[in-house]
Amino acid sequence: MYTLSNIADVIGARPIGGGDNSRVVAHLLHDSRGVSFPESSLFFALVTRRSDGHHYIGDAYRKGVRAFVVSEPINVDEFPAASFLQVTNSLHALQALAAWHRAHFSIPVIGITGSNGKTIVKEWLFQLLEPEYRIVRSPRSYNSQIGVALSVWMLRPEHTLALFEAGISEAGEMERLALMIRPDIGVLTNIGSAHDEGFVSTEQKRSEKGRLFEGARVVIGPEPWTGLLPHHVSWGQESGAGLRIESIRREGSETRVAASYRGVTVEIRAPFSDEASVANALTCATVLIYLGYSIDTINNRLAALQAVDMRLQLKRGANGCTLINDSYSADLTSLQHALHFMGGQQTGQPRTVILSDFTEAGTQPERFYTQVAAALEAAGVRKCVLIGEGIGRHLVLPADVQRFAYRDTDAFLAQYRPGLFRDETILIKGGRSFRFERIVAALETRVHQTVLEIDLNALAGNLKQYRALLRPQTKVMAMVKAFSYGSGSAEIASILQYHHVDYLGVAYADEGVALRQSGIALPIMVMNADASSFDALIEYQLQPVIYSFPILEAFERYLQREGLQSWPVHIELETGMNRLGFSALEIDALARHLQGTGWLRVQSVFSHLAASEDPAQDDFTREQAARYEAMTAKLKSALGYRFLEHISNSAAIIRHPQLQYDLVRLGIGMYGVEIETKQLELHAVATLRSTIAQLKYLEAGETVSYNRRGVVKEASVIATVRIGYADGYSRRLGYGIGKMWVRGHLAPVIGTVCMDMTMIDVTHVPGVEVGDEVEVFGQELPVQQVAEWMGTIPYEIMTGVSQRVKRVYFQE
Ligand SMILES: *Cc1c(COP(=O)(O)O)cnc(C)c1O
Repeated sequence: MYTLSNIADVIGARPIGGGDNSRVVAHLLHDSRGVSFPESSLFFALVTRRSDGHHYIGDAYRKGVRAFVVSEPINVDEFPAASFLQVTNSLHALQALAAWHRAHFSIPVIGITGSNGKTIVKEWLFQLLEPEYRIVRSPRSYNSQIGVALSVWMLRPEHTLALFEAGISEAGEMERLALMIRPDIGVLTNIGSAHDEGFVSTEQKRSEKGRLFEGARVVIGPEPWTGLLPHHVSWGQESGAGLRIESIRREGSETRVAASYRGVTVEIRAPFSDEASVANALTCATVLIYLGYSIDTINNRLAALQAVDMRLQLKRGANGCTLINDSYSADLTSLQHALHFMGGQQTGQPRTVILSDFTEAGTQPERFYTQVAAALEAAGVRKCVLIGEGIGRHLVLPADVQRFAYRDTDAFLAQYRPGLFRDETILIKGGRSFRFERIVAALETRVHQTVLEIDLNALAGNLKQYRALLRPQTKVMAMVKAFSYGSGSAEIASILQYHHVDYLGVAYADEGVALRQSGIALPIMVMNADASSFDALIEYQLQPVIYSFPILEAFERYLQREGLQSWPVHIELETGMNRLGFSALEIDALARHLQGTGWLRVQSVFSHLAASEDPAQDDFTREQAARYEAMTAKLKSALGYRFLEHISNSAAIIRHPQLQYDLVRLGIGMYGVEIETKQLELHAVATLRSTIAQLKYLEAGETVSYNRRGVVKEASVIATVRIGYADGYSRRLGYGIGKMWVRGHLAPVIGTVCMDMTMIDVTHVPGVEVGDEVEVFGQELPVQQVAEWMGTIPYEIMTGVSQRVKRVYFQE
């Protein structure tokens, strides 16, 4: 138990302000949105390239937080009874605190790094070692400069082993992670090529990763990299490998590895067939061998390994409910994370939680569950379903929270009937052994088996990659028109708001209204507003684009009548797209007009590039920019105040970096599609999946689908897939033009695409079965490819997925 004064000493800060410095600090915060235990939390105001935690001090204070670490001067009079620890760098202070906390423990600490597989290896080691140890581990993939500090902070006296993950994206970062983790046993999962991260060479990357292990007594992992580090036990076919692999043989879904360890022949059996999983399993097995486990025990435990899918899933349930599925773990940190995620879903529905016993409740369950209750209360949960004997006995909730308790998952399912939940947002969170996925299945609606899977982590990752191309001061407007290019509206906007984009852009006022109704607070630009939408603009605080004199005058008359002044608007200039905007001939009159008006306040002046992706049109693009600059200069001198200037869309961010001005309008790239260039490593945000309803075994000469144009040339297997043109799968993809991804193969469409179904030829795809999943586009089959087959652009396909296709959202 540390007090605030202890912590002040550790980080070398002098407390200022009128707070109680003897207060016990149990929780560290860096995000004011995730406050569960305000009295015992210490808020670190972190300054990153994109956001400044000092802006959120007021919010955290309002939520009851009274202790802060800051690096900027603070007016303490504004925050009565709060303490501030003034440091030069809040992140370094957080890390120093974590390192100091770590130094109190002498239990074995396993530090895990590598390019891929860190989280899986960490979770598998947890599953494999759980019977003997009380393990603390990084929650999810908390492996960053901040995540590691928060993970290390979770170390408690009752733990007997720690598993911490370290991830770095730039050279020089590992040193600080190493000081916090100080591993006794290092695990190196593997090292990918250098260019996918911010390293000059693979060599540099290797030495950087090795830095984590400087004080470790052993480093365990695959050859060749592990073999280059001192004190290693590696696995591989190389002669120097500690676990020397002799042969690898696949048997169905199992892989058998013959190897020798210290001259003894062993066989390791991994219940996987893909190479990456087998490699991760071998890394885990080598750790267990090193720790002295017998091969029999290792094989028994490997056989019981469970796939690691720790993503939070957000989906629509029956009776209007929203389900958040997190049925992988039950610990306090991940509960807070999940509650925080639930808080970010602006559904307006009452909040319900289905919870299992907690793994860490330990010897003092009463005390522990008091913290759980506080977290639930802070998150505004109205109804709790408690499953398990511990939680049912010990969790005490306020009288106005509905409480249901069941002995185990079976008891709950036996009682469950469909009307039990209605129009609620339900978090389903439980330890693995409770198998809550069965509860999720019961609460789900399953009508149409075609889903558009939306990967929210990919969205955030893509955004980050574009941001890395921008100057730090350049703002980002995220284009979320047309249901965020088909991916969904409120869900996407919530994530973008979370990642602090500066603006959202929509096409029509209705889209902006829907975002506001689901609680989005960011400024929203509406590109195509007309008189019929003025009421909505005002009511929902939306900012219209003004592109012509008639719309300018109509909007001013409206504002005048309503008695409103200085309404924020955006001015669009015509520079060559010939779609919307004031022309060069109108610019002087526009400047004079805007000079005299008090009704409007110009937030930004922009234009749109017609061909930023096309090298053959670069002269034209430059010409557009020159026209834009000339016109903007006139408005600047007439208006006498600053406004934002912008012209770039996704392709221009990459191809015309000199056109960043003050803001960029990021669209398709954020959803994972790079038009014409291949500079980034974007990930598809939307994956359209369907399933096979039936298989037909046809003879040569038989025909498939309407009008009999799909003629079978040999004995064939034809699969009927549950997607048709009513879902957005175009008829233009019929007759072999389009293909779908099934069991790792491309299968061509045969015959005409029907309204709700499409037939594909799976003759040459081994092992196809009814119920198999089919990818229509996304992760494996890029939407660009499908667009090319169809003779269109990815935009049309993405926005064309019809609204009857259920959207399912994933987040790690
Ligand atoms: C849609 C749109 C964008 C985004 O374009 P992308 O090519 O998807 O990046 C930018 N500006 C305007 C005016 C748009 O309509």
